[in-house]
Amino acid sequence: MCADYHRIRRFLEERDPPTPCLVVDTDVVAARAAEFRVAFPGALIRYAVKANPAPPVLDALVAAGLGFDVAGPAEVALCLERGADPADLAYGNPIKKPRDIAYAYERGVREFTSDAADDVDHLGRHAPGSAVSIRVVLEAPDSVTPFGRKFGCEPAEALDLVLRAAAGGLRPGIAFHVGSQQPDLAAWEIGIATAAKLFAEAAAQGVTLTRLNLGGGFATAHRTAVPSLTSYAAKIASALATHFPGERPELMLEPGRVLVADAGLLRTEVVLVAPRGERRWVYLDIGRYNGLAEAENEAIAYRFEPVEPHAGPSRPVVLAGPTCDGDDVLYQRTPYELPLSLRTGDRLDLPGTGAYTASYASVGFNGIEPLRTCCVGRWGDD
Ligand SMILES: *Cc1c(COP(=O)(O)O)cnc(C)c1O
Repeated sequence: MCADYHRIRRFLEERDPPTPCLVVDTDVVAARAAEFRVAFPGALIRYAVKANPAPPVLDALVAAGLGFDVAGPAEVALCLERGADPADLAYGNPIKKPRDIAYAYERGVREFTSDAADDVDHLGRHAPGSAVSIRVVLEAPDSVTPFGRKFGCEPAEALDLVLRAAAGGLRPGIAFHVGSQQPDLAAWEIGIATAAKLFAEAAAQGVTLTRLNLGGGFATAHRTAVPSLTSYAAKIASALATHFPGERPELMLEPGRVLVADAGLLRTEVVLVAPRGERRWVYLDIGRYNGLAEAENEAIAYRFEPVEPHAGPSRPVVLAGPTCDGDDVLYQRTPYELPLSLRTGDRLDLPGTGAYTASYASVGFNGIEPLRTCCVGRWGDD
């Protein structure tokens, strides 16, 4: 689906909110969720709350019948507050305190992900009988924002953890995550092949696995095209047919970015334009600490569209944020051009910014408030 942002632009025109401001169209979130369900029929879909935890976004997804991938007690509480069924929550963070496991279990969460023996033991003690997917690390191509080696265990250890979980009265499955913003479809094939091998090895040890959690990672377009949802789905279906020729596992998916990025548009204002050497530096009221954390290493390169009409040519710029931190530079290597007539007070729109922006904003570095989110559409603020 191609977002046209018409409701968002009308809201910005009518209300003219102070910048920076992220506006999210909840109807688009609901439409993306519906599209995702059609692409993966029968799969359990758990939206990764960290991508955008704004209550109206969660309301739209509850209405669309989705469940939620939560990372800790606050996200459990938030989803339940918005009307989610605890049976539809999956505690997908492998790094968790025993008391946080107990908190989630008390509130009805029965689905967890784990990648370490101690955590499996904590789950056996504090979430008895729950489903636990063992997260395996993949030898797969890096995504744009990879997880590195922080999560997942080697396949040999995963088998040990599966057996440990089963012995501890838990219901084991397999999980992987190909890394966020993953445009390489081959990564899912590698994940599914790795999982199939573990299903067979567990069966040989007398443990039947049923659940396969394919994680998230579905990419969204900024300045370059990415595969469509249907091409991801087709690749996953064919990999499942190849590697699970017998009984198909029960599938779980944890999309984050792909459900919300294109539902959001961020408006920013030019603070200062300064000629420095070859290129002008354009300082914006949005930077890495108040919403554009994913510009780190210039990994995600957003689009910047001038709001006011500018006649005349565009020239190369460096884009930087407003704070007194030397690392608060957005793009120095990525080539960007903006109009020569751009001045203080002019505004720019960043489409496709509904994911991993507001949720990553610091609480008051240099006194700058976290990125404000306004929601429009059926589940909007007003
Ligand atoms: C962040 C996260 C996701 C969502 O990833 P996207 O790339 O936004 O789809 C899913 N599962 C887990 C465990 C995560 O940590």
